[in-house]
Amino acid sequence: MNFEDYKGIWVYIEEQEGVIAPVSLELLGAGRQLADKRGVELAGVLIGNRVKHLSQTVFEYGADTVYVYDDPIFEHYRTEPYMYALLDCCQKHKPEVILYGATPTGKDLASAVATDLPTGLTADTTMLDIEEDTGLLLASRPAFGGNIMATILCKKYRPQMATVRPKVMKALKREPGRTGKVVEERIWLREEDVRTKVLEIVRETTKKVRIDEADIVVAGGKGLESKEGFQLIHQLADVLGGAVGASRDVVEAGWIDHHHQVGQTGVTVTPKIYFAIGISGAIQHLVGMQNSGLIIAINKDPHAPIFQACHYGIVGDAFEIVPLLIEHFKQA
Ligand code: FAD
Repeated sequence: MNFEDYKGIWVYIEEQEGVIAPVSLELLGAGRQLADKRGVELAGVLIGNRVKHLSQTVFEYGADTVYVYDDPIFEHYRTEPYMYALLDCCQKHKPEVILYGATPTGKDLASAVATDLPTGLTADTTMLDIEEDTGLLLASRPAFGGNIMATILCKKYRPQMATVRPKVMKALKREPGRTGKVVEERIWLREEDVRTKVLEIVRETTKKVRIDEADIVVAGGKGLESKEGFQLIHQLADVLGGAVGASRDVVEAGWIDHHHQVGQTGVTVTPKIYFAIGISGAIQHLVGMQNSGLIIAINKDPHAPIFQACHYGIVGDAFEIVPLLIEHFKQA
């Protein structure tokens, strides 16, 4: 494999119903830095039905080129057609790096593409860098229970690929009117060749705020003692219009489902305000919330590690303090 043939940083642009996933815009920001360091182009790969017009947004967030596969066969995400499109694009244009959001779609597509190329894939990356001269991607992620950051290298193959957690990279400020080159591509695939059919789409109807999009997250830990005690977290989140978060121990105890778990094996959140109530502050929890704007901790142990990571700390019993906060915010 001649590495000289592979040039450019790519971002897979995830789109649903005409809207680009925020993580793709964040990755354009990260990709721009890598491309500038290497002195190569940044490209977005856009696959979908009636998506070509979204290229403009991709340029405005930093891309130089957008490869577009626009066809009714891509109406809904399915592994096979999307994988064939991306493989086709790789064969024709040979990127040195491809970044995907670590979302259900991004993870599915990246692993399918990695298997077929074949190349390596670093999953759930939280830090990215590139060697200026060799183009070796330095993709880092927490390992060994979050106690170390492992930097994973793909020395023998190209392209180098990584899925990157939402909310850990920063999108660039949008530059209206910024343009670039659109390259329209096609693959010849018939509907009957695709083994997966979309029979029905069931929409989530909950009115609750999504934890990864909320401005305020109220998270509770084992200090709440029971599922009943954990109701205080729901009540405080409700009065503040925030989302409920939880430590892994709470999820494992069955007090709330895994979607609410914050941390290394849960979601990464960066709300404006994060309440950590009855949470000790284990490293695996901290990696999922430490970039929040303002962290407020309530814990009865003054030596709990969470107090090293918060902006404001209240040493006290959650069962006394949280009801006072709920009352206060109800009246505010
Ligand atoms: P504890 O550590 O038991 O802390 C409870 C806290 O509540 C204590 O600090 C205590 O002082 C306080 N408290 C008790 N009573 C009260 C009261 N009445 N009022 C106020 N405070 C009170 N954890 C995660 O959260 N997310 C992850 O994604 C995650 N991934 C992991 C991955 C791996 C590979 C491993 C090994 C672990 C992972 N963990 C994760 C688990 C993590 O190590 C901790 O065990 C967990 O975060 C602890 O949860 P906790 O803070 O709720 O419980």
